Amino acid sequence: MIGGIIGFVGGLAVTLKSAWREPVTAEYPESEKRLNLEDRYMGFPALTWDGDVGEPYCTGCMVCVRECPTQCMSAEMKDNPLYPLKSRRRKIIDSFEINLARCILCGICVDVCSFDAIEMSHEHELSKYERNANRADLPSLISMGRDYQKKIGWNPRNPEKNNGLPQVEEGGLDSGAGEAVEVEE
Ligand code: SF4
Ligand code: SF4
Repeated sequence: MIGGIIGFVGGLAVTLKSAWREPVTAEYPESEKRLNLEDRYMGFPALTWDGDVGEPYCTGCMVCVRECPTQCMSAEMKDNPLYPLKSRRRKIIDSFEINLARCILCGICVDVCSFDAIEMSHEHELSKYERNANRADLPSLISMGRDYQKKIGWNPRNPEKNNGLPQVEEGGLDSGAGEAVEVEE
């Protein structure tokens, strides 16, 4: 009998304690009631922007496209019009598309990129009514990436290698590929 009362009082105490606790859930979709995302949160992949040069980090090398397990990416490169005077990147991305409806957010594209050019952003709300409406093109991917960079104060993991600013060396500009380029007077 006494054990039963103790158990009842203990249960009541837990109930009362929980009743006054702050909610641990959020009401969707009201933006002011949402939980904050941690910096390490992995949303959809997005392309990063090199603000020092004014171009994407992506050179269109296609490594991520080849490694993507769901084959939801495509990319094309072009000669970089800013190379060599304004950028060390000989090639630059021309078009890029990710079918985000097929992306499984595995992060492999980020892991295999050697240029700090793609990150798992915080974007995760892309529901659409149309079947193919989640194909993100280059401007969309860059916009997502710039929002992400600004939000978390992103910095490249390998800035010496991947910063696009031309590095002035004796006798000319370093092309970034181990080749000096003479500057015309
Ligand atoms: S995101 Fe990285 S791996 Fe993918 S094409 Fe651009 S530079 Fe290459
Ligand atoms: S996160 Fe995975 S599935 Fe999505 S684009 Fe990158 S490699 Fe492909």
